[in-house]
Amino acid sequence: MTTKSSVSLLLFSWSRFRFCASRAPCSTFGPLIQTTPPSHISVCRRSLSSTVKVRSYLQYVKRKIKSPPSPPYSHVCQVGDPVLRSHAAAVDPAAITGLEIQKVLGTMVKVMRKLECVGLSAPQIGVPLRILMLEYPWKLFEEVSPAAREARGLSVQPLRIFVNPELRVLDSRTVLFQEACESISGFSATVPRYLSVEVSGLNEKGEAVTWQASGWSARILQHEMDHLDGVLYLDRMDTKTFININWQEHNE
Ligand SMILES: [Zn+2]
Repeated sequence: MTTKSSVSLLLFSWSRFRFCASRAPCSTFGPLIQTTPPSHISVCRRSLSSTVKVRSYLQYVKRKIKSPPSPPYSHVCQVGDPVLRSHAAAVDPAAITGLEIQKVLGTMVKVMRKLECVGLSAPQIGVPLRILMLEYPWKLFEEVSPAAREARGLSVQPLRIFVNPELRVLDSRTVLFQEACESISGFSATVPRYLSVEVSGLNEKGEAVTWQASGWSARILQHEMDHLDGVLYLDRMDTKTFININWQEHNE
């Protein structure tokens, strides 16, 4: 059974956790007006090439002063980066408490909290290893209205880390909600996810852990598990719901 959200017009921002009421999709505006000449492709190319040029110069200046960063990055990789489409490798359990993996975990926590996102996977910071984490702090929870918390099944969650996680579906009914991803910055879409799942793996100390999650926590887990297999929400979304979350600002 598929449950469609009665609040599908509310936009949930994965990164900000704020609901932006009544942001209707672009399609509600009917046919687009074509400008003359209808050369939007070449216009896009021009702007793209000029962006690349500016960035390349800035990068050049930056690299003159500083060597390029290497993973684990303190930023999130963006779609197009091959690391986001690779199948992440399992972590040697004996290495979890070692310096290298602990550094990856520490950086992930730092990045996740800096961006105020509720979940993160290691490939997103350039490390193709099977590690994911989630955390739903009270600070973000209280920004959401009680009605929306209820509808999405939101709950405050402590930091949970899973190394080499395995996911089992407990309730195969799916629910549709808008979700976003830090690796597809500025966009959002409706994605079906299972209502309830169980995750098993190793924690940051290398201890075996199992957790059953439902509602929004189950959604986060499925989203982050997908990252470990090179899958993005783009592969699962309802394509007609894909939006630029700032589309209104472009008209102002
Ligand atoms: Zn993501």
